[in-house]
Amino acid sequence: MFPDHLIIDFDSTFITKESLDELAHLVLLNHKDGVERLKSIKALTLSGMEGKIPFDLSLEKRIALINTNKNDIKQISSELSKEVSLSIKKNKLFIKKNSSNILIFSGGFKEIIIPIVSEYGINEKQIFANQFIYDSIGNVIGIDKNNNMSKKSGKVLMIKALKLSGKIDVIGDGFTDYEIKKSGLASNFYAFIENINREKISQLSDKALNSFDDYINIVND
Ligand SMILES: [Mg+2]
Repeated sequence: MFPDHLIIDFDSTFITKESLDELAHLVLLNHKDGVERLKSIKALTLSGMEGKIPFDLSLEKRIALINTNKNDIKQISSELSKEVSLSIKKNKLFIKKNSSNILIFSGGFKEIIIPIVSEYGINEKQIFANQFIYDSIGNVIGIDKNNNMSKKSGKVLMIKALKLSGKIDVIGDGFTDYEIKKSGLASNFYAFIENINREKISQLSDKALNSFDDYINIVND
């Protein structure tokens, strides 16, 4: 049976890529320190996800390295809409049918995520992610630090704040997704290995999913 709540991670799970890395590539491609900055950002993403450094520190440092604005963000969201994971795309109807029970938990940014998942029947209220702060002409000048997702173990803080009831499954590829189950507030954590197979995360999971089909088989069993 489909759970009361299915929490799906966005980066490297719902889509094949890391949205902030892609935004960084777009912005920094022609920047004079672009190559160096991109290397630092990639390393910070991995360290944050594998739990080697706190997520809040990883995010803050990455945003400081990316000098971005509203137009870039619109463009990257449109490009990433073509990068939805293969098995998610394939099961669009199943996801739409169950969309009222699906939540997106992401350390990424709402503005990038909304246009992509809305195609799958998942609306803004079901998306829990970070938010940029802009100046009057649309440049990003920071992130909303009051948002749980900007903090260390943000996904755990968020699920605690939501006070969800019933059976909760989590699907994701990173350490922060596993942490939701570790907190005791989710029934199952499934490692999503269609895009990236992190051995440490698979070992911590109840089961590794080669694709979203594997999850459908579990709930239909
Ligand atoms: Mg992820």
